[in-house]
Amino acid sequence: MERITEYCTGCRACEQLCAKKAIRMVADREGFLMATVDGNLCVDCGLCAKRCPQNRKDLLHGKSLATWAVRLKDEHTLYRSASGGAFAGWAAFVISQSGAVFGVKYNEKMRAVHVKVETWEELQPLLSSKYVQSDTGNTFAEVRKLLNEGRLVLYSGTGCQIAALRSFLGKDYDNLILVDLICHGVPSPLLFSRYLELLRKKHGANIDEYDFRDKRGGWGLGYKYKYKNTHKYGTAVSNPYYAYFLQGYTYRECCYRCHYACTERAGDITIADYWGVEKYHPDFYSTKGVSLMLVNTRKGGCFWNQVECDFVCQESKLEYAVKGNQNLKSPTIRTDKIRDYIYDGINSMEVEEYFAARFPLHPSLTQRIKDRMPVGVKLWLKRMKRQWNP
Ligand SMILES: Cc1cc2nc3c(=O)[nH]c(=O)nc-3n(C[C@H](O)[C@H](O)[C@H](O)COP(=O)(O)OP(=O)(O)OC[C@H]3O[C@@H](n4cnc5c(N)ncnc54)[C@H](O)[C@@H]3O)c2cc1C
Repeated sequence: MERITEYCTGCRACEQLCAKKAIRMVADREGFLMATVDGNLCVDCGLCAKRCPQNRKDLLHGKSLATWAVRLKDEHTLYRSASGGAFAGWAAFVISQSGAVFGVKYNEKMRAVHVKVETWEELQPLLSSKYVQSDTGNTFAEVRKLLNEGRLVLYSGTGCQIAALRSFLGKDYDNLILVDLICHGVPSPLLFSRYLELLRKKHGANIDEYDFRDKRGGWGLGYKYKYKNTHKYGTAVSNPYYAYFLQGYTYRECCYRCHYACTERAGDITIADYWGVEKYHPDFYSTKGVSLMLVNTRKGGCFWNQVECDFVCQESKLEYAVKGNQNLKSPTIRTDKIRDYIYDGINSMEVEEYFAARFPLHPSLTQRIKDRMPVGVKLWLKRMKRQWNP
């Protein structure tokens, strides 16, 4: 039992590797899945600890080979993506080659889960970011099966999930493209479901869609959710779950010691928002969104040559990318008192009381005005700001 690190990421690699089925994933009191060993079934072979990505230092590639600012040419799909549609462009290529793509969608219970898709229609729910830890289910085993059948496979996820898949597979495959995201950290599925419960009580209806990266107000941190036939919009400032996520208060413990918050990456390709692109490539900036893309391996570079034609691109520099994305340099800092307080009471308190006590919001007057401003005015102000501060 003590052989699996206390900084378990919940990736499920050990669970799927264990021939004795001695490992189960059990939610801890904060709602994060933790690997738990059944001592009666365990034969002490040590495979779980050996392959646990948290115990390995060899799952990262060297410094990336190229840095790009990219934007998908297909404007409809770009609009539905969180930043510049990097993921959708790669996924479309793999689907066109009769390959399989793995990524995250909300299931019917609004839980973020990794799934396999093989068509353009199936791909749509995978677009945009779900800011909650996803459950990888049995996807690692599915990937291995498809790779052994010779299918082209793309798997996208956070750095720890991609490292875990590499560790699970134990070798590289020419027909596998691994895409990792730069990640600040992940809140627990329980916290997200309690937040949805808060909304359900407020509106008297279930929430059936949630998008953290709605682009109605341009590329940024606007959210949208839907209940019955009504859509609600806002920005992170007015949203307790989102605001506390962005401030780094709600992450899994291992995120504050993340091995993957660095310029060496686990994926063949890394994607993220290209925050700060307007400073380094002002002509490339667009309110429609720009993705940062790092090419980390020669294999990633070879595939990129085939995918590139679907994007508008600008070659960039890693040092610029690091300036706009702190988590390319180091993990998010744990704010001890707030982090400990946040998850205290998550199971026992009434949901309204819990959010009022643990997630107080005090947006400034300017923030509140911005939040209520019509989208057209916001976009106009953004354009003016750019003209006056070129
Ligand atoms: C938890 C989390 C934290 C992030 N932190 C940062 C950050 O600090 N800085 C930054 O620049 N970018 C961060 N991102 C990435 C960013 O939100 C965009 O996903 C990225 O810009 C790619 O955008 P896109 O337009 O190419 O694709 P999108 O349309 O956003 O494609 C979505 C991709 O993200 C995957 N995905 C969605 N939700 C999850 C999830 N919960 N877990 C694993 N994979 C998921 C989907 O499978 C798909 O591959 C984070 C993403 C997540 C999920």
